[in-house]
Amino acid sequence: MNVVTPGDLDPALEAEIIAAVDDGFDGQIEFTRELVRHPSLRGREHTAQELVHSALRARGYAVERWAIDVEEIRHHPGFSPVTVDYENAVNVVATHRPPETLGRSLILNGHIDVVPEGPLDMWSRPPFDPHLEGDWLYGRGAGDMKAGLVANIFALDALKRLGWQPAATVYLQSVTEEECTGNGALSCLVRGYRADAAIITEPTDASLVRANVGVIWFRVRLRGHPVHVREAGSGSNAIEAAYRIIAGLRELEAEMNAEQADWPPFTDYDHPINLNVGKIAGGDWASSVPAWCDMDLRLAVYPGQDPAEVAHRIETTVSAACQDHPFLSNNPATIEYNGFFARGYILEEGSEAEAALVAAHRTATDDEALGFDLAPAYLDGRVFVLYGDCPCLVYGPHAENIHGFDERVSLSSIRQITRSLALFTARWCGLTPT
Ligand code: ZN
Repeated sequence: MNVVTPGDLDPALEAEIIAAVDDGFDGQIEFTRELVRHPSLRGREHTAQELVHSALRARGYAVERWAIDVEEIRHHPGFSPVTVDYENAVNVVATHRPPETLGRSLILNGHIDVVPEGPLDMWSRPPFDPHLEGDWLYGRGAGDMKAGLVANIFALDALKRLGWQPAATVYLQSVTEEECTGNGALSCLVRGYRADAAIITEPTDASLVRANVGVIWFRVRLRGHPVHVREAGSGSNAIEAAYRIIAGLRELEAEMNAEQADWPPFTDYDHPINLNVGKIAGGDWASSVPAWCDMDLRLAVYPGQDPAEVAHRIETTVSAACQDHPFLSNNPATIEYNGFFARGYILEEGSEAEAALVAAHRTATDDEALGFDLAPAYLDGRVFVLYGDCPCLVYGPHAENIHGFDERVSLSSIRQITRSLALFTARWCGLTPT
C-alpha cells in the first residue's frame, strides 16, 4: 500500500470504502441503540458521554473530556447565557493524528444532548428503549442526533478496516448544550479545536444546509399579589395577562417575517421567523387568582441580524403590551435571557469542502445530486462558520418527529451518509496506511 493523495478517488477504492461501511453497519446500529438507552437530557449528559469516551479510547484515539467552563467562554461573542449547573455538561473530543500529513484537517461533530421526551403515554414505546422496525430506528435522540454522531465514528472505522487512516488531523467531537445554548461547540472552539472543514451530521435528509436562522431564548416573568377569587377583577390574573404579552410578541413575529425581503437567503422562505411559546407555568390553586406566571419563549433571528437588536425589540414589545393593562401596568413583566443568544449563519457557496461532499454524496447514492436546504432552526454550524473561519457542512440522515413523539431515523439513510462521510474523509484528508 502506498498513500492516497487528497482529491479524486479511484473507483475501485470507492467501492471498497462503501463495502467497508456496509461491513460495519450492524455494529454501528447496535452502538447507536446503546447510546439512545442513555437519556442524555440536559444536566444528565455524562453517562452517554462516558460511553462515547470509552468507545473512542478503545479505538486508540487521544481523547479529551471536560465539563464546559463558563469562565472560559463567557466573553466570547458567540456565548449564550447559562442558568444551569454545567457539572455534567461534558464534551468529548478524540484526536486522530497521522504519521504524515498529506491533506486537510477535519472536524466531525455531533451533539449528545437530547430534548425532553414529554408524557410517556404519548409514545408508542418507551422513548429510551430503542427499537427497530422496518427501515426505522425509534427512540428519543435516535435521529437528533445520535445516529449522526455514531456515523462519524464508524466512517473512520470503515477506513481503518481497509488498512487506511486519514492523512490529516481529524477530530471527532461529541458536544453537549446544542439544544439550548450552543455553548458546547463553542467551548471546543475556544479550547483550540480548529480545522480546515467541519461536518455536523444533524438529520438533514442528506441535504446540505446552506443557511440557518439564529435563535434567542427568553423567559417572561409576571408577578403580582395573590387574592381570593371573589376579589378577582378582570385584570388581576397573571395567567390571563400572559395572553396580552403573547399577542404582542406574535405581532413582532409577523413584523419580522414581513421583513424577509431584506434577509437573503430567506427572502422566499415560507415563514422563516418562528416564535414558540414553549413552556408556561403559573398559579397553584383553582380558587386563588394566580399572581405569577412564567413563560419560556424562543424567537428566531435572520442570519446577519444581531440578536441584541432583536432582544431590544422583544423588550420594547413586552413593555408596550404592559401599558394600559390593569395587571401589567402595575406589575410590569420582566425578561430574562436564559439560553440561546445566537446568530444564524450563511455557508459560503462553492468551497472546496462543499465540492468534496458533492462528489462523495454522488458516489454514495449511485449518482444522486446533493440537495441544499435552509434551516429555520439553530445549528452549531454557526460556531465554525462565524467564529472558526471554517466551512461547516451540516449534512446527515433522514429523521422524523425529532423533538416530538416516536422520533425515528431511517437506517438506509444512516448507511448512505456514513458512506458519504468515509468517502469525503478519504477525498479531503487523503489516506495513509495504518
Ligand atoms: Zn440536533
